[in-house]
Amino acid sequence: MTHNVCLVRGDGIGPEIAEAARRCLDAAVATTEGASPLKWTIAEAGVDVMETAGTPLPNATIEAIKQADACIKAPITTPVGKGFRSVNVHLRQSLHLYACLRPCKSYPGVRSRYKDIDLVVVRENTEDLYAGIEFQHGTEEAGKVIDAINALSTGNKIATSRKNTGISIKPISVEGTERIVRFAFEYARANGRKKVTSVHKANIMKFTDGLWLEVSREVAKGYNDVEFEDRIVDNMCMQLVQKPELYDVIVLPNLYGDILSDLCAGLIGGLGVAPGANIGDDGAIFEATHGSAPKYAGLNKVNPLALILSGMLMLRYIHEGSAADRLEQAVAAVIAESRYVTYDMKPNRDDPTAVGTREMADGIIRKLQGKD
Ligand code: NAD
Repeated sequence: MTHNVCLVRGDGIGPEIAEAARRCLDAAVATTEGASPLKWTIAEAGVDVMETAGTPLPNATIEAIKQADACIKAPITTPVGKGFRSVNVHLRQSLHLYACLRPCKSYPGVRSRYKDIDLVVVRENTEDLYAGIEFQHGTEEAGKVIDAINALSTGNKIATSRKNTGISIKPISVEGTERIVRFAFEYARANGRKKVTSVHKANIMKFTDGLWLEVSREVAKGYNDVEFEDRIVDNMCMQLVQKPELYDVIVLPNLYGDILSDLCAGLIGGLGVAPGANIGDDGAIFEATHGSAPKYAGLNKVNPLALILSGMLMLRYIHEGSAADRLEQAVAAVIAESRYVTYDMKPNRDDPTAVGTREMADGIIRKLQGKD
């Protein structure tokens, strides 16, 4: 048996860290008794392929992802305010990847103000202010939306001039909320987690976040073995900074999830070590939390760990738990020893003993092979 895995190489630093992750994952399964090998399909997306294919997301890439058992995707540049719309958002929507999973775990040796963090952020991926329903200020459409809202609203009206108001719509549905909160509880159960915290601003946005909270409470009733609580998002930010040990699995609507997952990545030492996954009922894409860092492209300099740890999550997803455990141990050992780590993991960023992307992967592979 083999696992069919699609590797999307991305752009910027993407191809370098994709190659590092692929080599580490191959080594993890090759050195684990009973693990099945990975059969790779390499696919392209992003600004590099845009020039030849005329699109940053060729159909062949979407098809390759659909055909695979799982996909690892390196970062892709989203030009600000011009060019193509985000490939990442497009992929999540077209493949119905409704759950964004971001485990945040401390590894000794990573510089951070906090120790022993072990949190999992579950972010809803398809609704909320990220749904992409927006009306530009000054357009006829925005004017019509404002008129409609003012005609329908029995309470507050949009008071500013029609010309100067942009509108973003925040849809939150019963089905979307139920699906993601259930995902969080199922994840908690399957991974021996004790508690799910649902985050919202239900005191202010009664018909969106209020609905989210109501549905969260309903879903929680079906999981008596997992503790449930809720927090208002601003309080949650403060609590995470002051008492992160109180939290376990945190489930959030899209926008709060986006913000708090970076906050949690900060607790464990930053984006360089924060893995992630976007998961739906029929597929999953595993990707680092960080972006394509274009200024470091081609320099063999950046830290490949976030994508390697995303690959570790993928191994768990395809039921290669032993290989995932061994890969995580190898990564933890390399970090703790601090010999084969990139510049960002050294106390001094100019440390001449820092190694490159490729050499850090080599260090992890040697651990897996028992050669170091
Ligand atoms: P970024 O994460 O690419 O880089 C910010 C800074 O973080 C870098 O300058 C670098 O100092 C550091 N950094 C990032 N990754 C690192 C690594 N692996 N090792 C060491 N240091 C690292 O964020 P940005 O500059 O805001 O975004 C660049 C592009 O990436 C944008 O176009 C953005 O839209 C895109 N992006 C893509 C994804 C994705 O594909 N999932 C996610 C976030 C951002």
